[in-house]
Order: sequence, then C-alpha cells, then structure tokens
Amino acid sequence: MKVKFWGTRGSIPTPEPEFMKYGGNTSCVEIRTSAGELIILDAGTGIRRLGLSLLEDPEFRDRGHIFISHYHWDHIQGFPFFTPAFLKSNKFHIYGQFKVDGRLFDVLNGQMANLYFPIRMDGMRSQISFHELIEQEVTIGDTIIRTGHLNHPQGNLGFRIEDPDGIVAYVTDTEHPEEGLDEKVLEIAADADLFIYDAMFTPEEYPNHRGWGHSTWETGVQLAKAAGAKRLALFHHDPKKDDLTIDQIVSLAQIQFPNTFACERDQEIFIHSTTDVSSNATPPTLSSILRTKHRIQSVDKTVTVRPSSFIEHFISESFLSDVCAQISHDIQEVILDFSTLQEIDSLALGTLAQILEKCESAGATLSIVHASDLIRDVLEITRFSQVIQIVDAPGQAV
Ligand SMILES: [Zn+2]
Ligand SMILES: [Zn+2]
Repeated sequence: MKVKFWGTRGSIPTPEPEFMKYGGNTSCVEIRTSAGELIILDAGTGIRRLGLSLLEDPEFRDRGHIFISHYHWDHIQGFPFFTPAFLKSNKFHIYGQFKVDGRLFDVLNGQMANLYFPIRMDGMRSQISFHELIEQEVTIGDTIIRTGHLNHPQGNLGFRIEDPDGIVAYVTDTEHPEEGLDEKVLEIAADADLFIYDAMFTPEEYPNHRGWGHSTWETGVQLAKAAGAKRLALFHHDPKKDDLTIDQIVSLAQIQFPNTFACERDQEIFIHSTTDVSSNATPPTLSSILRTKHRIQSVDKTVTVRPSSFIEHFISESFLSDVCAQISHDIQEVILDFSTLQEIDSLALGTLAQILEKCESAGATLSIVHASDLIRDVLEITRFSQVIQIVDAPGQAV
C-alpha cells in the first residue's frame, strides 16, 4: 500500500518558500491499496496536482474513491480543479458525512456556483456517484474503510483504512476532550501502521484555541502510544508555522515517540504486510485487532487478565476461550483487571459467569480489581459481588 501526501497544510494554502517543505497545499492524501485501487482522503488544494499526476499514470484505472472528512474549505476547495473528474472515461465515488442540512452534492456543487466558479458540477463529464456516510464501513475490493465521528465544528469523520498490507488511520480536524483521550480516535488508530493526526496547535497555544476543533502533537503522541500505532504522522500544519518551526515540533515529539514525523509535500510512505503475502492474507478485522489488545499473564499460580476497553471484545467467544485456556487445576487465583473496561452489560455478565464457573471447577478463586463505580454497582445489584471478590488493588479487599 502506498500513501502520498499531496496537501498537508490546514486552513489555507501557504505558497511561501519557507513553508514548502511541509507543503503549501491543503489536505489531500492519496492511498493506493494493495490491490491497486485509488482512495483519496480529502479534496483540499492538493488534489489539483494529484489529478494532474493521474493523467500520466499508467496504473490509474480510470476510477477512484474520494472520501471527504468534512466540508470546511481546506478539505473541498481543490475539487473544482480535479481534472480527471472532467473526463468522460473516468468514474468516481465521492463519500462525505450525512447531514440533513447540507447534502454532499449540494456542498460540492455550491462551491462551483456561478458566483464563484465558471463551470458547474454538471460540466464535469466523468461518472460521479455520491455516498453519504454515518459511522459505518465501506468495502473497496479487499480494503475496508471504517468511519468514526470526530469532535470538530460542523462535524467531521475520521477514516480507518484496513488493507491486507496494513492499517492507515486518518484523523484530522479534531479536538481532544479535556478529560482524557478520545475513545473514538483510539478505535480508529488501534494498531495502525500509520496514524495521521491533527497537530495544528502546540500544547502552549492550545488553551487559547479551545473550541476551534483542533489538537496538538502532544495529544497525538499520547494517542499513538495508547492505540499501539507504529508511526505518528503530524498533519494539518498550522499555516502560521514555517518549516523550521515544524522541524522543532517534530524534534520535541520524537523525544516522547521516536517514530514521529511531520507530513511533507509529495512525501510517499510504503506499507508492506509483515505476513506472508503469498498466503492470500485477508485484511485484519476489527475483532482480530481488538483480540490482540487484551493482556493475559500467568505467573506462578495466578492468572491476571486485563480485557481491552471494548465490551464487544469482552463478550466475544475468542476472549472467553483465551481466558479459559489459562485456567487449569494448577491455578489458584484468577484476577480480572477492569482498569480499561469501564462498563458491563447483561452479555458481559454472561461471560463473567462462565469465567466464574471455569474457576470454580478448577478450584481457583476469582477476583476483580480496578472496577469502575458503574461496574461495582452492576455487580452489587446482580449479586455477583457475593461470589466474586471485588478488590481495589491486589491484596486490598473492600
Ligand atoms: Zn481543516
Ligand atoms: Zn475543519
């Protein structure tokens, strides 16, 4: 899979020479999937040069999929200059967020109204289909694109591209919550090979820009670490920051997360599958990714299990069988560490009951540590607390 950055600036193009390393154009990222399909993320001014490159590209198959994160100018403004859309032989699918008060066609057509542009969208001769998205998945060949709502004025979508070659997460124009990391972003970025993230502000600038819908490199680092991302790509550069300033930001970020870089103009990243490509590898599913996120440790006669933060994972067959496989007659104690899982439902209680049964038949005790207040209440009401020891931390019964 290839990723190429055609536009990396936020808000407005920066055509000044001292802003050129990190790109003068606004948001546009090209992805060529392992199967050779063309995916374009955002249609900022960078899409103009991408379009010109397609005209000379023998591998361009006369079709492509354009995903628009949201309708702010810096993400749509290049579209009227996307030459391949004017050619009859081409076919494009355009995806954007569903909005009752701003339909995708009207948004793109609106910026080409007579007042602003000489050609209307119906002057584009290619076949164009419009797809309005909520949180869902789109399948293109053997690549899956998942969407997730982000925190930005007028709304925004993040994209997770799962390809047999690897995972790319595209999360731009989003503001992190005050109380911690955005669970939605963690989901999109989980185990990503490349995590592209909004680094518009520095941590020092951010307090004066609360509510603008943008984040910082520092939060990007925290998210990358928590999500298990392999590389962090700082994106949507502030048009006020010249290349030298961005170089300094990268140096700071690399101290905390060495695998950080800032997206440069025309930069290409190649992501190759680490599995045997000849074995017809299937793209990783969300459940297979989540499965890798739980931790099971067996030390002496104690098994400690820390489920992932996703309840869907906790109630899955694979999680239950992974846990039960560790519980044998040699085990005296099983500890469930709920420090990441924050809530449980009736299905989760079913899983808990099966783990308890397995412990009882093996002669092991079951205790729960780091349960949230919500989980404690549920265990109390359902009387699980009478048969499972709920502990604040190992050794401290409450
Ligand atoms: Zn933007
Ligand atoms: Zn925006």
